[in-house]
Amino acid sequence: MSRLLVEGGTLLGLRQPGDVRPGDLYAEGGTIRAVGEEARRLAAVAGEPVEKLDAGGKWVLPGFVQAHLHLCQTLLRNGPEELELLPWLERHVWPGEAAHDVETMGISARLGLAECLASGVTAVLDMGSVRHADALFRAAGRAGIRYTGGNVLMDDPETTPVNLRARAADGLAETERLRSYWQGRDRGRLRIAVQPRFVVTCTERLLRSAAEYAEEKTLLVHTHASENRSEIELVRARTGSGNIAYLERMGLLTSRTCLAHAVHLEDGDFKRLADRGTSVAHCPSSNLKLSSGVCPVTDLRAAGVRVALGSDGAACNDRLDPFREMRLAAFLPRSANPPRALSSFDVLRMATWEGADALALPGEQGLVPGGRADLVLLDPEAGWSMPHDWSPEPYGAIVYSMGRENVFATVVDGVVRYRASDPTVMGLKPSPAEVREAVRKLKSRM
Ligand SMILES: [Zn+2]
Repeated sequence: MSRLLVEGGTLLGLRQPGDVRPGDLYAEGGTIRAVGEEARRLAAVAGEPVEKLDAGGKWVLPGFVQAHLHLCQTLLRNGPEELELLPWLERHVWPGEAAHDVETMGISARLGLAECLASGVTAVLDMGSVRHADALFRAAGRAGIRYTGGNVLMDDPETTPVNLRARAADGLAETERLRSYWQGRDRGRLRIAVQPRFVVTCTERLLRSAAEYAEEKTLLVHTHASENRSEIELVRARTGSGNIAYLERMGLLTSRTCLAHAVHLEDGDFKRLADRGTSVAHCPSSNLKLSSGVCPVTDLRAAGVRVALGSDGAACNDRLDPFREMRLAAFLPRSANPPRALSSFDVLRMATWEGADALALPGEQGLVPGGRADLVLLDPEAGWSMPHDWSPEPYGAIVYSMGRENVFATVVDGVVRYRASDPTVMGLKPSPAEVREAVRKLKSRM
């Protein structure tokens, strides 16, 4: 059983503003057992090797959650500019995904997961490709991160390239094969999500059977929705209805569903999402790079919809960096007319607590006894974020001035998975030569 003592830090629990106190933290078996003086006492009597993190001068907070990611696209980073969603998918992403073999998929996942851990991320919701999802789970197992993912489902012959298409029954059979092997492995850190890519690439038969299957197995549903104007027009032309309303009709709007983007919403959609308890993963960098638009985050939150944050894939971002997404998420509402408010505390909640709820992570939240020991330790004196004397609370500094250069350590399930002193991320990060060779292979098949 893992035992970890985090000594001398300042705990930012994020339960409510002002939830900030100095103190030690002791975790056993991935669960926080004590904070404050009791932490050292329990560590002393544990009688077993206790991993120690000297957190003197550091800020300790719940780990960041990436609520929308494509690890299969990390090797497609720094691709074409000035393309909107549909031509970008057709010209860059789909040919790249189809070119993967099991080795290149593993390299792509390790590169992305190393970046996530080095950025303070402790849990990801990852949309895989049609094939080779086992390589994603293997990489996530090696990283020790909380990983929810699986194969992507796309079956519509009119919109899906032939080399990335699987019949509805075959795609779901693959999800079931993955579930029967991976679900709950690594102490529950690895989990399956049912992932129709988006309405445009899926037949009605696929969407309905995906909804039934997810319900039967109590699995998370992850899909893209209403990201781009051409996409929603195409959906209306094909189905005669709005995209979110159509997903509801297919049975895919549930409290275990996380929709990526939700940029172009109709009036009734806010209530629809709130009534169903469906979460939204806001991906501001991706939405701006692909000229998709801006998600109405403050209206969604006001309607009672849970909004988490995601980077989307490296092919459209091109960083897997929660600090960049938090900063943009805080700024974008102020560009509305009239300006809207979204505080740095609210943004931090979206990047942590709301994300964990959107992923339905097991266990309790917060830096309290019984809480999940998924932590990020920030060094406020590293990088370029000093001074911190002008605000009584630390949230603005994290959202506006810090970056991953401030990440001192990342803890998942009570185990240290990244230390700033080890840029290889415990050997997880592939070497530049490995990355170049994997990209050469992809290009030779595209
Ligand atoms: Zn995406």
